[in-house]
Amino acid sequence: MDGKYHLMQTNSSVFLGDKFYNREHLNFILFDVLKAERVTAYEYFSDHDKETVQLYLDATDQFAKEYLFPHVVEMDRVQPELVDGRIRVHRAHKDIMRISGENGWISILASKEVNGMQMPSVFSTAASFILGAANYSGCVFPGLTMGAAHLIETFADKKYHAIYLPKMFAGEWQGTMALTEPNAGSSLSDIVSSAEKQAYGTYKIVGQKIFISCGDSDAVENVVHLLLARIKGAPTGTKGISMFIVPRERINENGALEYNDVTSIGVYHKMGYKGAPIAHLSFGENNDCKAWLVGEENKGLTYMFQMMNEARISVGLHATSIASAAYYASLKYANERLQGRPITEKNPELPQVPIITHADVKRMLLFQKTFIDGALCLELQCSYFADMERVTEGDEKEKYNLLLELLTPVAKSYPAEMSNFSTSTALQIFGGYGFTKDFIAEQYYRETRIHAIHEGTTAIHGLDLLGRKVMMKNGKAVMYLTQEVMQAIAKAKQHENSKEQAENLEKQLAKLQELSMHLMQVAQQKGVEAYLSDATLYLELFGILVLAWQWIKMANTCNENESMDKHFKESKFLCFNYFFEYELPKVQGMFTRLKSTNHITVGIDSSLID
Ligand SMILES: Cc1cc2nc3c(=O)[nH]c(=O)nc-3n(C[C@H](O)[C@H](O)[C@H](O)COP(=O)(O)OP(=O)(O)OC[C@H]3O[C@@H](n4cnc5c(N)ncnc54)[C@H](O)[C@@H]3O)c2cc1C
Repeated sequence: MDGKYHLMQTNSSVFLGDKFYNREHLNFILFDVLKAERVTAYEYFSDHDKETVQLYLDATDQFAKEYLFPHVVEMDRVQPELVDGRIRVHRAHKDIMRISGENGWISILASKEVNGMQMPSVFSTAASFILGAANYSGCVFPGLTMGAAHLIETFADKKYHAIYLPKMFAGEWQGTMALTEPNAGSSLSDIVSSAEKQAYGTYKIVGQKIFISCGDSDAVENVVHLLLARIKGAPTGTKGISMFIVPRERINENGALEYNDVTSIGVYHKMGYKGAPIAHLSFGENNDCKAWLVGEENKGLTYMFQMMNEARISVGLHATSIASAAYYASLKYANERLQGRPITEKNPELPQVPIITHADVKRMLLFQKTFIDGALCLELQCSYFADMERVTEGDEKEKYNLLLELLTPVAKSYPAEMSNFSTSTALQIFGGYGFTKDFIAEQYYRETRIHAIHEGTTAIHGLDLLGRKVMMKNGKAVMYLTQEVMQAIAKAKQHENSKEQAENLEKQLAKLQELSMHLMQVAQQKGVEAYLSDATLYLELFGILVLAWQWIKMANTCNENESMDKHFKESKFLCFNYFFEYELPKVQGMFTRLKSTNHITVGIDSSLID
């Protein structure tokens, strides 16, 4: 490997946290709050139980500590580079992919039919949280491969399973999602990459894709793109987009790999999450790029969206992971850094105190902690709903599907946005040192910024939530969510230490319903543009209420468990109280704004913003 890697700053010369996540808190959410092991009672997941899941999480923890965390700083210092037509990445990615393959982690969610392990996704989401907290750039290579393989398994003809899945599951071939084009980012209906049908059922692809995560790298033998393109003559817009398997190297008649005319024409230099490459790719420069159709023609976006729901949960989750790592670094620092004296103490002869004893530093730590635990609970709750959707039938299946559909834009975007504040708060705890590269906080701050952008920007998810999901099936999804929240509220009202908070959330929930009715009237009277003009703000408000629901559930769990460790319980109630005292009140301003009939961003001359 290139000698320059050895000159780089290593983890050991940068201030890091003692840990990057807390297993006890993760277990509490998984097994006490969600009782997620209940899904293993269903036939499909019956190979697993709480014990095997714990072993899987133990192994993930060990892998994260040995193979991911040790490279977190170094991967930030050396960006991937395009060298002689291939993107060169950090040497550790090869091992990460190999071990992920050997241990069956890339196939953990896949069905037994394709030699997968049929693990409930709630547990693989928990494992992914650990990996993302250890080193986000390191964990995306296997994570993306898992997602792309899942697309092939679910939608592609079975004849393609044998060609691609074993290699991808082994970590030898990378998987990608290739959607974005220079003129089609948020607006995927404008995709212009073209596909032309050939005599033997294959297609020829011509086009360019940009920002493709892990789109090329020397860590793997081959890259398999799940690419969206328009078949010649297909309808315009989203109804004319098809999905294709496009390998970088295709298999020829002799079974050998041959170049498939996929060119890496550039690698972007990012502000954070630098260890993973995002590539600018050109397909068919020599008119020789072969592709294989996934499923039916013109259904590509529908397939991609089903899979993107998983990817979106994963984005919200990893925003939370990075915030977790930043939190533990700031917690360690807050305990070690001596500065100032208690506000009540004027005597300069007395020794300085650790900054964690100052009220504002406690506030900053509690802000991070309540966000991280609340968001983690939300992401795991969503994955649990996804598992329940898989194993149930009829009305029950529909209920879980609708809950998941409604919560996905929130689970993606609210933690993504909040992680920016959370990591910034971690950095603030370091004072001036936080602004230097010798302390990890600035890296986490840069690293998490991507999450509000990729897999659809926050604006796009706001539009999805208010424009589609809230009204879906005449508001049935919202009705199911309200039922879930009201059940938790009813339990919390039975305990003195959570009654007031439960009543408060009940009031806010009623105000949300009132607000939604008000917005429907805006839609009727002023049109769709006014209705959706503050959709991003609506999503933020929704996010705070959904996190309040997570905290009510956590408080209920503590109240129901008399044998719970006293310190653990007190620490949970501290966060619970913090959330209801500091975070929930923020919705008041949002309600005021969202109920205003003064839509100042609608219908104004854009040139006035000068
Ligand atoms: C690190 C990284 C990794 C990525 N990985 C992948 C990948 O693996 N595969 C892939 O296909 N793509 C990937 N992307 C692309 C990513 O999904 C897009 O960048 C994203 O969807 C936004 O598209 P855009 O950059 O074209 O921005 P634009 O769509 O041009 O948006 C610019 C701004 O305008 C706003 N905006 C746009 N349209 C609207 C609207 N209708 N209403 C309100 N506001 C609007 C947006 O919210 C945003 O603030 C990646 C990008 C990055 C940076």
